[in-house]
Amino acid sequence: MAGVEMAAAVADLGGSRVRVELVHSGAAILPELRETQPRLAARAEDELARLGVRVRLGVRLASVTEHAAHLSDGTHLPVSTVIATIGQRAVQVPGLDALRDPRGRLVTRSDLSVIEGVWAAGDSACVVHPTRGEPVPANALWAIKAGEHVGANLARTIRGRATRPFAYRGLGQAASFGLGRSISELYGIPFTGWVAWVLRLTFFLRFMPSRRKAAQVVGDFARRAAYSRRAHVSAPVDAPAAAVATARTA
Ligand SMILES: Cc1cc2nc3c(=O)[nH]c(=O)nc-3n(C[C@H](O)[C@H](O)[C@H](O)COP(=O)(O)OP(=O)(O)OC[C@H]3O[C@@H](n4cnc5c(N)ncnc54)[C@H](O)[C@@H]3O)c2cc1C
Repeated sequence: MAGVEMAAAVADLGGSRVRVELVHSGAAILPELRETQPRLAARAEDELARLGVRVRLGVRLASVTEHAAHLSDGTHLPVSTVIATIGQRAVQVPGLDALRDPRGRLVTRSDLSVIEGVWAAGDSACVVHPTRGEPVPANALWAIKAGEHVGANLARTIRGRATRPFAYRGLGQAASFGLGRSISELYGIPFTGWVAWVLRLTFFLRFMPSRRKAAQVVGDFARRAAYSRRAHVSAPVDAPAAAVATARTA
């Protein structure tokens, strides 16, 4: 998701002055969204095509030199900029190896404890979705909600009360492809265009740590919208390339 949004943002801001290549190791972009909302995933592909982003699937970024991004299939892209959105790897805390899943994440119990006195949440934890029974995605919303839950259960433990199982079911997903052009899924309902764009912005503002930060984000959006409009009316020049590399996370 981060790579798709980054590629779209660079292409949208740069207009015809940049050439953007999105390199993705999986068979299709947005695998998590594709499972539940295939039409939204297809819409995202259309938006990338509209922005002129070339998508390369099934290859990884192998190495980067000053003027090229070298890919795992032996090809290379002449580039001026490489943006890696290849995600994160679980942080390994020594001594807990038996409690990890194959991706190295600490496997939590239903109340998000790992063993007595050890709790886990966020990217380093394998938290099972309360109804779907599979690990929740590694993103900020799940990290925030699981973190809050760990805090509440810690407080209960200190007061001698029983812990509660993590029951949060999620909110949805969203990606933006420029001003007024987004895809969003909220509680399983798909949205596109301006409605999706406003939903995405509202979602981000809702989870900002302070009102000041939220105001900064709105300011950034406004500046970006103004800059994007200016960029689109300026004359095209020789297009330098940006490669955005993303990895399959599902
Ligand atoms: C490029 C990119 C874009 C993303 N975009 C989005 C997005 O748009 N929306 C979204 O919801 N999610 C996004 N994510 C995912 C999101 O950032 C993570 O899911 C979220 O930050 C996880 O929170 P966390 O607290 O588990 O981990 P982190 O935010 O990574 O925090 C872990 C902290 O632990 C610290 N740490 C590491 N090792 C140790 C140690 N041994 N001792 C003490 N401290 C340590 C680290 O320095 C870090 O500060 C993105 C991720 C990436 C990489």
